[in-house]
Parts: sequence; C-alpha cells; structure tokens
Amino acid sequence: MSEVVRTYDLEALCENADENRTHYYLKCPLCASSGYNKKKLYIKKDFSIGWCFHCNTSFQSPIPENQDDMTINEGFRLDESADNYKLFKLPQEKLFIPEILTNEDRGLLDKRNPYLYLLDYAGIKSYKDSFWIPYYINDELIYYQRRLKHPINDMKYYNPMIEGGKPLYVPPGMRIGSKIILVEGVFDALAAIFLHADKVRAGFTPVAVMGKTLTSYHLWLLNNLSMIDEVIYQLDKTELSLELHEKCGRRLHALSYQYVPSNGADPEEILRSNQSVEYIQL
Ligand SMILES: [Zn+2]
Repeated sequence: MSEVVRTYDLEALCENADENRTHYYLKCPLCASSGYNKKKLYIKKDFSIGWCFHCNTSFQSPIPENQDDMTINEGFRLDESADNYKLFKLPQEKLFIPEILTNEDRGLLDKRNPYLYLLDYAGIKSYKDSFWIPYYINDELIYYQRRLKHPINDMKYYNPMIEGGKPLYVPPGMRIGSKIILVEGVFDALAAIFLHADKVRAGFTPVAVMGKTLTSYHLWLLNNLSMIDEVIYQLDKTELSLELHEKCGRRLHALSYQYVPSNGADPEEILRSNQSVEYIQL
C-alpha cells in the first residue's frame, strides 16, 4: 500500500460524483491527469477519507489552519438531546476582525457577479487566503463558507464541517417564506435577486442549497422554518432541477413547482447576457 496522502476538499470533489450506499466514487484527479478515466476514487460519505484503487493514493480534507477556523462555525450544530435539528446562532464574539475587501479582491470575484456592490451587501470578508461568506437564516448568523482566492486544482470552496450538514444560504435581510427559488450556490442566490426581480417582489426568496441536492437537514429547515407553498428550481442545468424535484419535491409539501430551463449557464451568466427567463410548471 502506498503511503501517499493528498489533501483535497473532499466535499467539493464529490459535487458531481456517483454514489453507492456508503461512498461517493469518481475519477481520481491524479490519475485523470495521466489519461486514466475510470472512477476508481472512493470517498467516504462523511468526507473523512478517500482512496484511489488505481494509484493507491489516500485523500483527505485539509485541516483548518488555525484556531479561528475551528471556532468560527461552532455556533451551528446538531442538538442530540432532541431527536431533531436545532439552529444555534453564532455568538458575535466568535467572529474574526474582517479585513476590508481590496480592489484586487473585488477583481477576483468580478466574474461571479455583475454587481460588485453585492459583495458588501452580502457581507463577504477577506481573511488570509480566502473570502468568508456569512450565512444568515432568518437574520441569525449561522455559518461562514470559505472560498479560496486562488483555487487549488479544482478546489474552490472549503466548507468547514458542521454537525447536521451543509446549511442553506439566504441573502442577508431575506427570510425563508412560503415561496422559494432554489439555486446552487451563494452567488446564484445573489444574482437571483435581480434575475427574478418580479418574483422576489412577489415574495419569493432565493435559497442556495450549497450544491445540487437538498439534504435531510435542508428539508427539515425548510419545513420547520416555513410552510412552503411555491417552489421554483433554477439549477445550472434543466436535468439537475428536474432531478432535485424528483428526489425532494414531495418532501417539501408545496402546492406549486416550476423550473427555469437552463443549459449550463448559472444565474449570473444569464443575468450578464440579458437573457429573459421562462418558468415552466411541473
Ligand atoms: Zn488515482
């Protein structure tokens, strides 16, 4: 057995992976660079470790580099005493002192949104090698997602592990109400405010699922924080929206479901190109 250990954001690697009951499996990035294309990298579903059966490399997630990283997200956890999830707000004193976003920082994020002032609105901080994106749910700060300023290989996001699983992202000042627009990531949710301005005026809230699916924790949050009546899906591809509906639609108990067709463009790309969006009833 090889002793080679490589550090990757395992959760990010698994974004498009296939899965069986216990593992995700995908093409190993090391093997793929030498042209080997079989899916021989297996990653445990808790993202603790991965193993490539072709090159025998062990994969692990990066270890937070300092104490700040360990404590920043400790306000959000699973309440094990109740057979349920619970939302703990992050105590303000746990927050780091943010650095101001420089013009260079803004330049690095420019591609992600046509409206750079949204970075301030979203409260995005610059700290060391990363942007830190605050997550609020119903006005409570619950989480920081970390986006590397200079992605390493395919690793762009580092999502600190929290018990209960990935949270949902709702733009600051918005609440999860009875109408939601489900999108993939933070910048999609911010772009959706403009792209779906009419819907937002009519009471829809953009909600990012931090990926392409709703976890049982997400479903619990949505069903407990609100009574969902109307859902619009806008993932980057139509198939993904339909898949999400197939998997989770019934568990949201909404009265109406629509999707926005997309052939791979994310909301900010559509916003930039001034295309109109259409809503198709499911
Ligand atoms: Zn490999």
